[in-house]
Amino acid sequence: MAEIIDGKKIAQDIKREVKEETIRLKERTGVIPGLAVILVGDNPASQSYVKSKGKACEEVGFYSLTEFMPASISEQNLLAKIEEFNRDPNIHGILVQLPLPKHINEQKVIEAIDPRKDVDGFHPMSIGKLVIGLETFKSCTPAGIQELLIRSGNDPSGKHAVVVGRSNIVGKPIANILLQKQPGANAIVTVAHTGTADLVSFIKTADILIAAVGKPEFITGAMVKPGVVIIDVGINRVEDPSSTKGYRIVGDVHFESASKIAKAITPVPGGVGLMTVAMLLKNTLKAATGL
Ligand code: NAP
Repeated sequence: MAEIIDGKKIAQDIKREVKEETIRLKERTGVIPGLAVILVGDNPASQSYVKSKGKACEEVGFYSLTEFMPASISEQNLLAKIEEFNRDPNIHGILVQLPLPKHINEQKVIEAIDPRKDVDGFHPMSIGKLVIGLETFKSCTPAGIQELLIRSGNDPSGKHAVVVGRSNIVGKPIANILLQKQPGANAIVTVAHTGTADLVSFIKTADILIAAVGKPEFITGAMVKPGVVIIDVGINRVEDPSSTKGYRIVGDVHFESASKIAKAITPVPGGVGLMTVAMLLKNTLKAATGL
């Protein structure tokens, strides 16, 4: 049976470290890290993410505020709000909760954030720096994946990492992070996607498998190599009449079969999902101390 990579515990450790560092920063300089979150519209999932980000900020002693804007807000007004936060010295990190309503150009909004406050790591400047190996804000979910590997004693260096999925928010950034000639990285990286013929033949060669496919329990134990380390990024809702909610959350990996073959695996929930907010806190602290 595979060892469980405990995202809850690792995320708590990171939050504790951030809290301690925040106290020291305040004592030394008087600076309190500040995060501004902008939520446009009333998507229930986004509301819940934003709430948990605000709560996490409170826990570690940050200053945080959430700007609620109606779904009908104009792009111009949203950009003006970002500009206001760009100029605000008490705000070190700005996060615009995605997705945005269709009439707003998401890329334009991302690019309006001052790269020094880009704690979500989606600005092209942050991504470009990441690709060429410069210090920057790594986007939170991929940064959380790297941290899980390192802190669970599964250093990716010299290992074959297979990333299934090439989205801009998970697949591409984690592939680029693991590729760097840097501590906690230095892997041999393969990225698979819908254009990959015979996907299983690639998955079978993975020492580290990052599943970011968005398909419930898509990767099974029969597809993986014995001893693989599996990071399951997937968050999928599947119907479950036996649950009081009528559904349950599963990953992109079939946990029951894969955990019998793997050396280590992240559970869903309880794995990558919890790391994203912890890494957002880490990025905000980094922004407050100067990138
Ligand atoms: P996405 O944008 O839908 O991308 C999915 C990727 O998987 C695409 O690159 C797609 O290939 C590839 N793919 C889909 N079906 C495939 C198949 N049959 N064979 C091979 N490749 C296939 O998803 P995402 O935003 O990266 O998210 C992935 C999963 O992670 C989702 O379950 C999401 O909910 C979860 N997630 C979790 C967190 C978190 O824990 N905090 C954060 C973000 C996402 P093409 O490019 O060829 O279409």
